This record gives sequence, C-alpha cells and structure tokens, in this order.
Amino acid sequence: MLMSEYKIPLIDLKEQSARLGDELLSRIKNVILSAQYIMGNEVKTFEENFAKFIGTKHAISCGNGTDALVLALEALGIGSGDEVITTTYTFFATAESIAYVGAKPVFVDVDPETFNMDAALIEKSITPKTKAIMPVHLFGQACEMDEIMAIASKHNLYVIEDACQAVGGTYKGQRLGTFGDVACFSFFPTKNLGAAGDGGMIVTSNDKIATTLKALRVHGSGENGKAAYTYRNEGSLEALNRDTTESVNSDNTVYNASKYYNYIVGHNSRLDELQAAVLNVKLDYLEKWNERRLEIAKNYSDQLSSVQNKGQFKVPYASNDVKHVYHMYILKAENKEALTDYLASKGISTGIYYPVPLHLQKAFENLGYEVGDFPVAEYLSKRTFAIPMYAELTDEQQAYIVSTIHNYANNI
Ligand SMILES: *Cc1c(COP(=O)(O)O)cnc(C)c1O
Repeated sequence: MLMSEYKIPLIDLKEQSARLGDELLSRIKNVILSAQYIMGNEVKTFEENFAKFIGTKHAISCGNGTDALVLALEALGIGSGDEVITTTYTFFATAESIAYVGAKPVFVDVDPETFNMDAALIEKSITPKTKAIMPVHLFGQACEMDEIMAIASKHNLYVIEDACQAVGGTYKGQRLGTFGDVACFSFFPTKNLGAAGDGGMIVTSNDKIATTLKALRVHGSGENGKAAYTYRNEGSLEALNRDTTESVNSDNTVYNASKYYNYIVGHNSRLDELQAAVLNVKLDYLEKWNERRLEIAKNYSDQLSSVQNKGQFKVPYASNDVKHVYHMYILKAENKEALTDYLASKGISTGIYYPVPLHLQKAFENLGYEVGDFPVAEYLSKRTFAIPMYAELTDEQQAYIVSTIHNYANNI
C-alpha cells in the first residue's frame, strides 16, 4: 500500500469491535435471549467489578456521564444558590451539570502545560456560597489532587471528580476516582472504556451518598428512596458525614414491591443491561489498552520532540506523579491550521479539543464572563488539537503519522 493511501481516523472503534468479535457478540446475544434488559446480572457484575477496579466501596451506574455529574451534585444536596468551582477548559457537560441543578459554575483558568485547573487559582474563587470543587482530569491526566483536597478540606467543600476521560489513571499511585467524595465516569463510545451507546458511573465510598444515588437514578422510589428521604430531612449529608452506616441494599428492579412509593424526585437514568454486557467484556482489557495508549504516547513524544521547534508545535507535558491514560494525545501548535490541514491532506484525522472555553460559550453568557477573563484557556483553545490515539493503532500507522509530521516540520 502506498503511504498516501493511508486513512487514519482519530479513533478506530470498528477495529476494536472486530478484535473482540464473538466474545462481545455472544455476551450481547445472551442478554437478548434472557430478556432481562433492566438492572440484571450484567449491571450488578459491572458495578461490583468497576468498584473493585477503581477502589471505592460503591459504584452506581447510570445513563451517561452527564447524568452521573447531575446525580452526584443532587446527592450532595447542591442546587439553587450554591456555587461550584470548576475549569473553563473542558467538555461542556462538566459545567452544564452544575447549571442544570440550579447552581452556578464558577470557572478558574488552567495550567498551560497540564491543561488542568490551576489549583493555585481556586482559593480566591471561594465565596460563602461555594459548596464544591469539580476538578476534571482532562485528556486522561490527573489534576493536582494533593493541593485540591487540601483546599477542599480547609474550606469544608465537597470534591466531585469529573473522571470521564481518565478511567484507570492514577495520581501518586492512587487511582483517580478515589480522591473526591464522589467521582463520575462516562462510557460514551469514544472514551477509554466505551459502551456500544451511552453509559455512566458514579463511585463513592460513602454509604449515604451511594444510597441516595441509587434512589435518584430510579425516581426516588423504594427502600433507597425512603432512606434518601430520611438523610435529606436529617440534613445528614450536609455535614460531610463519612460515617459507616450500612447502605440499604435494595436493587429496585422491576418486581420490587415498593417501586411505586416515591420519596424524592429523581430521574430515570439507568445503565442498560446490554451496555453493561459490553462493558463487562471490555473492562477486562482496560489495563492492557491503557498501557498500549501510554506506549503510543511515549513513542509520539520521543519521536516528535526533535522536530517540535522547527514545526512550531509542542508535545504534551507528562508528569512523573501521574499515570496518564491518554484519552487524547494533544499537540499545541502556533499555527494549528497549517499543521492540521497538512495532516488531513495526507489522510490523517485530527480533532479540536476544545475550540471554545466554557466561560465564552453562548449558553453561559448569563454568567457574565468576558474575553480575557481566562487567558490561558483562551490561548489553548486556539492552539490545541488531537492526533490519532487508540489502543489498536499499529506501529506502521504510527510511523506514518510521525514521518508525516517530520515532513511538515522540515518543510516550513
Ligand atoms: C464525556 C464527558 C462528559 C459527559 O459524558 P457523557 O457520557 O457524554 O454524557 C463529562 N465530562 C467530560 C470531561 C467528558 O469528557
């Protein structure tokens, strides 16, 4: 095959499905034949194995990553009149969830190297209305969790980790998702652990929060709903109560007698049994896939560093404190379009993450931010882009991408 005939996508989901083949299809077939579509054994197994994988006491699945964030905020009692501090440089859903529950997203700028919220800027954004900090482990790289947890504990704030892009990542050897009061994950197909559709998960080691989450995802009904109602009226979640009261272990499935007794207003946000079946198959491969991503990223960085000055771009920063899971491999270029156009002409896909920082999104114009408020995020939004990154990327494909970028750098 001629080099110029290459077509390399940003992520190749078809290749992953092809490699999983029958293992995936037979598991899906079994769900269909069992006709157990809602909250069956696949969901139960996935929640148990995911909690084990992350290292939290509970994992509560839900419809998608955005719902996971909304449910987490609601479980912590965050709503109208409250403020939540988060990053402006992230996917929209991070701050959308805060606005959705009626609270106000308060943005901070990011670090120009890690692209993550600059922990040094958090404290000056705290007001008497601040209830929580929502750090985002962007592109798969951990935030400065020591600093963030210290600020949270000093000011008695909740921490909700948006770990939607960082499943399996670590900070100083500890798994992401175990730092905050709760952490949220997405199984959108392109995430490192992707379903065949939408899916989400909330993890926590707090029993009361877990029970409240189980209630919220199914209309606040049944035994969990009753317990959640009690916690709310006691105000016992308010005090960052980390006691070890046993969680109520009702699964609230189709035949639960207390299903039609509703105690709090919730949602219908469950993980499908079919999606759980897919995720159970894939969870076993996740570590291996993340290792392969790390290897690809190291190869990119090793082989592109020598031409980055010439090509006027920069490879991503990698901290020794962090196990980065490279949901995306992000380059930063002064003349982004020249490089992405050149790659497109050679059959290499790129993607822009993210073109508009959240404080400048139309949907948030009511928050009153202006151009210039967060200069680092604004600078990055004009310069960053992703190049192909997925565990199935072959060495040959990677060599072609690297040599194409070398050609670009050597000819400008
Ligand atoms: C994907 C993502 C979400 C939302 O997840 P969905 O499953 O698409 O709803 C939230 N935050 C971040 C940082 C994400 O990347």
